[in-house]
Amino acid sequence: MNAAMSLVLGTTNAGKLRELAELLEPQGITCCSLAGLVGAIDVEETGSSFAENAALKASQQATALSRWVLAEDSGLVVDALRGAPGIYSARFSAPGATDARNNSLLLERLASQPAAARAAHYACHAALSDPTGRIVAVSSGVCCGVIADRLVGAGGFGYDPLFIVPEYQRTFGELSPAVKAVISHRARAMRAILPAIGLWLLPRGQPAGD
Ligand code: IMP
Repeated sequence: MNAAMSLVLGTTNAGKLRELAELLEPQGITCCSLAGLVGAIDVEETGSSFAENAALKASQQATALSRWVLAEDSGLVVDALRGAPGIYSARFSAPGATDARNNSLLLERLASQPAAARAAHYACHAALSDPTGRIVAVSSGVCCGVIADRLVGAGGFGYDPLFIVPEYQRTFGELSPAVKAVISHRARAMRAILPAIGLWLLPRGQPAGD
């Protein structure tokens, strides 16, 4: 894959960038982020779903850069909060919120809820755009869990110290990046879109994921 064919990851979220690069680069897919990329734009997330926002971020950024762009939109969906924070996960407590403030607000909103009523899932939708802004592939992934009653662990990012993965009885804040790279919503969405990335960006005969 030459430089022009390398994939631009349409995010500046450091936690997402780390996870995405770790999932894609072992497959031979060269990635670069929007950080410091000349011509990169700030795409407004005006969609009403994760899928719409992922497509907007991929298509508008690809058009601005004339490059292949893989974008994703993801967030936390809490049953007891009727799906909140959902597409507003990054700005749950306020525009430009910090992870710490978002986590405090989530704990506050769920304060009266017993463990049995704290079910949640992470969702991720991904979209791959060609350099003209045409979406050529989409995918999605979910990861189910339960919201803890206090922060546990310092790993991951965002809501991870509050997100208990039932199979492990540990939060993503405690689990290793290697576990998250297998079972997370983002890992699942990336695995599902890898064949399309391979088809469009890798030289023939090198399918991604082999
Ligand atoms: P986006 O950048 O608009 O897609 O917002 C994503 C937001 O959802 C992040 O800022 C986090 O608050 C939350 N989020 C998404 N994926 C994860 C994850 O893997 N761990 C923790 N929080 C996440």
